[in-house]
Amino acid sequence: MVTKQLPLRKCVACNQMFEKDKLFRIVKLADGIVYDKSYKAQGRGSYVCKNKACIDMAIKKKAFNRSLRMAVPTEVIENLYMELENDR
Ligand SMILES: [Zn+2]
Repeated sequence: MVTKQLPLRKCVACNQMFEKDKLFRIVKLADGIVYDKSYKAQGRGSYVCKNKACIDMAIKKKAFNRSLRMAVPTEVIENLYMELENDR
């Protein structure tokens, strides 16, 4: 069995490190913040676990705002919740 070592990233909500495919990435681009599904967008990234509890906590603590230094648009957050539904 081949196990591929993925880089670890920190969830902004629970502050634990996970392989990045266990996390959602949102990224700050020149024209605003977007959900980066490909993990490839250039820019300042922020990560959160793929579970509702962590996304909720990140919003409550304004963890994204702090890590990206600007407010995250509601539609980006809605995107994350939508992805959670799709993962099921
Ligand atoms: Zn988390």
